[in-house]
Amino acid sequence: MKLTILGSGVLIPVAKRGNSGYFLQASSQNILLDGGSGTIRRMADFGLDYRTIDTICYSHMHPDHCFDLVPLLFAWKHDSLVETPRSLKIICPKGFTDYFNALMDIYGDWVLGDHVSIDIMEMEREKFALGNLSITSAKTEHTAHSLTYRFEEEQNSLFYSGDTDKCDELVESGKEAHTVILECSFPDGQKRDGHLTPTECGEIAKAMACQRLLLTHFYPEILDTDIKSSVSNEFNGEILLAFDGMELEI
Ligand SMILES: [Zn+2]
Ligand SMILES: [Zn+2]
Repeated sequence: MKLTILGSGVLIPVAKRGNSGYFLQASSQNILLDGGSGTIRRMADFGLDYRTIDTICYSHMHPDHCFDLVPLLFAWKHDSLVETPRSLKIICPKGFTDYFNALMDIYGDWVLGDHVSIDIMEMEREKFALGNLSITSAKTEHTAHSLTYRFEEEQNSLFYSGDTDKCDELVESGKEAHTVILECSFPDGQKRDGHLTPTECGEIAKAMACQRLLLTHFYPEILDTDIKSSVSNEFNGEILLAFDGMELEI
């Protein structure tokens, strides 16, 4: 599996860090994992073709994680290089269908091409397969229906927290994954409910016993702090800080 970080930032505009977005290329699938505003343009910046997206997995419906859906559909409608017919699978939390239908009440025919079919699959705690790729969704503490995702292909495993606070289900869902992506929003001492600090990320990674920890979703106030040393007080595996355009093999 290959992962490209499209956005390691949050809703607050800062240079070089976009809203949440990750592109996962597994043997049989091209998955956009969250997609806040600007995500599909970032794909172009990093040499990735937005036309190849088969599936989108949304962790929750905050705008910094899903706002580029309308621009994606609008682009597909008018891009003569999009092969037709085109289908898009959207894996998402409960409530997404209502959100999508409300968007389509506003934009409808402007953005939805006749040649595009959309299959929405609302998830809670489930395990399913896309080709050779196994995906497990679980719940976590952020919004009422926030999801985490675990991707497994042969011996390789990747876990993505989305936005989250610390909770038992988060630790259980990521247990012994090779690579764990955790949000790391605010510095130690500036904890906000629904998000994680570096020390909490270290504690969670240690409890998960993962091999590699990738931290992301940085608010501006954490960027000038020494994130890695706080995390390494708790976790002695590999620690990486995401940046936009970063590529990882899993
Ligand atoms: Zn959020
Ligand atoms: Zn967020």
